[in-house]
Amino acid sequence: MNHLPVECPRCAFEKIFRLATSPVPGVCDVLQCGRCLYTWRTGEPARRTRRDAYPDSFKLTVADIENAIEVPTVPPLLK
Ligand SMILES: [Zn+2]
Repeated sequence: MNHLPVECPRCAFEKIFRLATSPVPGVCDVLQCGRCLYTWRTGEPARRTRRDAYPDSFKLTVADIENAIEVPTVPPLLK
């Protein structure tokens, strides 16, 4: 797996980073989008690895990302 995909399946950003490579060379890579941080393995199905096959309802736009500022709070510790 020497070439990286041209765009993120989720947000179409064009900077993709390789986080890890399988111990057995050429089996799979773990890739991550530089914008939305979507992370996937190259061995996963097309609906997880390719923009054109990624489900429309899960695709993100720049506006979606900029407006996704709500971070869930950490619940109180159990007593
Ligand atoms: Zn992305």
